[in-house]
This record gives sequence, structure tokens and C-alpha cells, in this order.
Amino acid sequence: MIKINDVQDIRSSNNSIISEMSRLGHEQVVFCQDQLTGLNAIIAVHSTTLGPALGGTRMWNYSSELDALNDVLRLSRGMTFKAAISGLNLGGGKAVIIGDAKKDKTDCLMRRFGEFVETLNGHYVTAEDVGMTPHDMKMIRQKTCHVSGIPKSMGGSGDPSPVTAYGVFMGLKACATYKWGSDDLSGKKIWVEGVGNVGMNLVRLLSKEGMIIYATDISEDRLSEAASNYGVITLDKYAAYDMDVDIYAPCALGASVNDYSLSRLSCSIIAGAANNQLADEQRHGQIILEKGIVYAPDFLINSGGLVSVCSELNGYDSNEVISKTERIYDTTLDIFRKSELEGITSHQAAKQIAQARLDRALYE
Ligand code: NAD
Repeated sequence: MIKINDVQDIRSSNNSIISEMSRLGHEQVVFCQDQLTGLNAIIAVHSTTLGPALGGTRMWNYSSELDALNDVLRLSRGMTFKAAISGLNLGGGKAVIIGDAKKDKTDCLMRRFGEFVETLNGHYVTAEDVGMTPHDMKMIRQKTCHVSGIPKSMGGSGDPSPVTAYGVFMGLKACATYKWGSDDLSGKKIWVEGVGNVGMNLVRLLSKEGMIIYATDISEDRLSEAASNYGVITLDKYAAYDMDVDIYAPCALGASVNDYSLSRLSCSIIAGAANNQLADEQRHGQIILEKGIVYAPDFLINSGGLVSVCSELNGYDSNEVISKTERIYDTTLDIFRKSELEGITSHQAAKQIAQARLDRALYE
């Protein structure tokens, strides 16, 4: 059995990169640089046990290379679990491009990145993540066919964010059923942290349910759009922690469920789109359990986008994508029952199911 250890931050470990890869179960990490375009990127292939390692590329202004490496190792590992729990024949991978997506991104840089993806011969398939757009996928596609989530006009599945948001919405409804005995969200108060591609689509779905929606974002433009289109109440991040909300939906970056947020939040449910929400999976998962908060494992409820880009690889079928995404509702409830029965956190319960599928695949 390949044991995938609990994640820990590489920045606080004394391990070499290869020891860290071995500890977390990564197969391959590729460092890419190009002086001409200014590209600095890292591609991490965590596992190809179930199929090619598929995972989006994130462009972010990391404060150090170690931060970028830490992010790509954690994110790629999460993709392995996401594919495994969603029943997809895909492995887990991810890429990060170090840079400011607003200032440093050029079509040439995207094409150069595509050339690096091509060198992996389909071992890694890329897609969209934070800081990337369907146009970028089009540029990458000029250099490699190992990319998914290309625009619909080119025969692809397009931006995966609306499907991701729909999956999160299904997960939220499962949380409500488990916590309150009904999936009716009308009148409930929710804080959506990050109204980007997924967060904004989620707000659109929630507003139709008659929810009271609070939103925070570091972008004033995104907040104004959410307020004018969906009647969202915009807040300062620190004020949001003190709001009396029923649900906290992290839809920005990872590690937002941490000592600080858990000491201030008074919500009943945590369910959102962001990857790697728990700063420390074991410890923060346990605190959530002890506080009686219902937590929907991120890699399960944000898997709709992966379902969508996976479908593109096999001939896009929108009906199949929607019905597979709707299964998130039942799987989320199954995980809560397992967690309750076995006295383990919902994150552990989800991981065990994913790990069992990986183990079966190894021995088949
Ligand atoms: P995005 O870049 O479109 O949106 C992120 C938003 O968060 C932006 O508006 C940004 O300004 C905001 N933000 C950043 N830091 C913030 C902070 N500290 N507080 C509040 N807001 C902040 O990205 P996205 O595609 O919407 O993805 C959001 C999250 O969901 C990411 O963690 C991503 O990995 C995850 N995710 C996305 C998809 C997808 O289909 N796009 C699929 C699965 C998981």
C-alpha cells in the first residue's frame, strides 16, 4: 500500500525536496524556467495510480519559491483524493506559475508553459485554476494537447467554475440536510469569502435560494459586482469573522480554516470551494468536530470542475457532468454518516474512502 501521510507544511520541515516528495507520496516534481518569457513554474505529479495526473495551473504572486513549492505539493496531493473520491479515472497533479497574473502574464509565457507540459507526454494534464482564464488554456493548447477546459467555441468544456460552484451548492445542501434536517437554505446567512470565478457563481445560485449573503474579497471590483448583481452585503474581512452567520464558505485560497478563524467563527457549517481549507488537516479537523461544526471536505464538494474537465478528455457530455456533480450531495451525506459512526473527522472519513479506492487500483 502506498501510504499518503498527513500533510504538513514543507516550510516547517527539515526534509529535502525528495524526502518530502516521498513522505507525501509524490511521483515527480518538475521545475521550469525560461529567461525569454520570464516563466518560473513548478509542475507536481502526485499520483498516476488511477490515470493521468490532471490538475489546474495556478498563477500567483508567491512571496517565495518555497511558498510556491509548498502550494503545488499540497494542491497536487489534494487532486489525487479528489479524483479518487469522485470515481474518476484520473491521477492527481497541479502546476503553479510564480508571478502576478495581472502584470506578468503574456500569451508567449502561456505558450512556453504549454511546451513544458508537452514534455511530460500526457503524464500531466493541465486546466484552469486561480489566476488563469479560458483564453490562457487556448494559448497553452497551441503547444500541447494535454490541456482541458479549453473554450466551448473550440469544442472544449469551457470554464469549469460554474460546475464547481454547482457542486459546492450540492455539498452545502447536504450539510443543511445533515445539520437542520432540511436542505431549505432560504433565510439562512452565509459568508462567501472570495467572489472570484467560483465564488461569484456560487453567490448566483445562493441568491436564488433566498439566502442572506455576506461577501469579502481583496478585489473591490468583484465585491461591487456581487453587490449590484446579487444584492450581496459586502464586508471587511475582519468584520466578517464577527458576523453571526450560519455558514462560512471559503472560496478564495487555502488554509483559511485555522487557529485564528476557528477562534472567532460562530457558524454551524463550513463548506466552500477553496482547496486545502484546513491549515492543519488533523488538528483543525478535530477542533471543528469538537465544536459541532459540520465541515464538508473541500476536495469532495469542489470536484464539479474536475468532473467537467475530465469529461472533455472523453468527449464532453454536459448531462453526464451535471448528474455526476449532483452525486456530491449523496457522497457528502455518506461521509458525515461514516464520520459519526466511526468518531472520526469528516476530512478523515473522505480521505479513507479515497485511499481505499487507490489501494484497490494498486492491487487490481
Ligand atoms: P479566482 O481567482 O477566480 O477567485 C479567487 C477570488 O478570491 C478572487 O476574487 C480574489 O480576489 C479573492 N481572494 C484572494 N485572496 C483573498 C482573501 N484573502 N480574502 C478574500 N478574497 C480573496 O479563483 P477561483 O477559480 O474562483 O477559485 C477559488 C478557489 O476554489 C481556489 O482555492 C481554487 O483552487 C478552488 N477551486 C476552483 C475550481 C474552479 O473550477 N475554478 C475548482 C476547484 C477548486
